[in-house]
Amino acid sequence: MHSDVTIIGGGPAGLATALSLDAAGLSVTVLERAPLAALADPAFDGREIALTHHAVSILRGSGAWARIPDIGISLLREARVETGRHNHPLTFDTHGTGVEALGYLVSNHLIRRALYEEVASRPGIVVRAGVATRRVRDDSDGVTVLAEGGDVACRLAIAADGRFSDIRRLRGIGAIIHDFHRAMLVCRMAHESPHHHVATQWFDDGQTVALLPVNGGASSLVLTLPPEQIETLRTMDRDRFNADIMARIGNRLGEMRLVSTRHVYPLRAVYAHRFAARRFALIGDAAVGMHPITAHGFNLGLKGQEILAQEIVAGMARDGDPGSARVLRRFEARHRMATAPLFAATNGIATLYTRDEAPFRQLRRAGLRVADSLAPFKAAVTNMLMDNKKTA
Ligand SMILES: Cc1cc2nc3c(=O)[nH]c(=O)nc-3n(C[C@H](O)[C@H](O)[C@H](O)COP(=O)(O)OP(=O)(O)OC[C@H]3O[C@@H](n4cnc5c(N)ncnc54)[C@H](O)[C@@H]3O)c2cc1C
Repeated sequence: MHSDVTIIGGGPAGLATALSLDAAGLSVTVLERAPLAALADPAFDGREIALTHHAVSILRGSGAWARIPDIGISLLREARVETGRHNHPLTFDTHGTGVEALGYLVSNHLIRRALYEEVASRPGIVVRAGVATRRVRDDSDGVTVLAEGGDVACRLAIAADGRFSDIRRLRGIGAIIHDFHRAMLVCRMAHESPHHHVATQWFDDGQTVALLPVNGGASSLVLTLPPEQIETLRTMDRDRFNADIMARIGNRLGEMRLVSTRHVYPLRAVYAHRFAARRFALIGDAAVGMHPITAHGFNLGLKGQEILAQEIVAGMARDGDPGSARVLRRFEARHRMATAPLFAATNGIATLYTRDEAPFRQLRRAGLRVADSLAPFKAAVTNMLMDNKKTA
């Protein structure tokens, strides 16, 4: 079997890449390990993805956004960051900008379903699900992806197989892995008081809590604690769990009730040493697996595939080659510039807010007060959250 490009991994980043490359006129094969049913109808996985305006414009352009039901798109009007219970909050909003929201919250499974539906409607994309990919082999004028049920010869192979990418490792690319020794529990809670579409991130001593507003009188709870405490909460009976969460957040939303399954994610951030090798590129979490605290993982994944598609289009116009060394060098340099500062800043914030020694506590309290009084700082962060810019 042959195609211009083969994508290993049919997660949200892999599927978005397939759509961009199909739109550029390339033939694309997607190889996904999970069965077709998991692609076509993914189950709720607890993640509510905060999307920037730029990410939404990419999804809209790909045709996937129109496939997400309106009820599944929740406005994020304001973000508040607090530390401790009685401290000055740092707030970000769109007041005076004429923009309706800082960003949009959509469940990960709805994004994945919409992307898959769009992919399935494109005759230029072949999806093979339930397929284990073994490795990528070099040929004289291309590469071959060795996979169960038939190898695929192509001019460029793209690994989008997640932050612990086997294909990245087998292609000889190492990665920085930052283990925060914390786990994150995510689930949906219905509550009595309205959230007014305000997201609250609350750094308390010993725990970090975020409440993300979703439609239907509910919020997504995002709780960070040491792994053994998270495991206790994951398995606790529902009534005790509800009471525990209400106490943790100081009853700020009245009665709360668990209305979904609970999901746990270990917190490990990953940054690949390189984003490319011969006729090979990394996309999504396989390139940059962010700590979720700044809500940028998928946003950066979308940006990365946008940059790669732009460079491939330029390479095709130059010499008809989508996987040339020049295409990959330019992609790598641009994606590194777009991600390295955010990766470092996010790890810094995550460390500052998960350590409970006195200097870290004092620094975060003082930090929020100072930051809230600095209008240019707030404007810069608001712009970063919204990311209205187009990638050049
Ligand atoms: C709790 C939480 C909250 C988050 N919140 C946000 C947010 O608010 N905003 C944001 O932008 N991001 C957020 N993220 C990050 C976002 O979820 C990820 O960046 C995104 O899902 C990564 O997509 P991906 O396609 O790169 O990887 P994945 O979703 O991991 O997909 C990888 C795919 O590859 C397949 N695969 C693996 N190995 C192989 C193989 N050998 N052969 C074939 N297929 C293979 C897997 O089955 C899977 O389908 C959050 C993450 C978490 C954990």
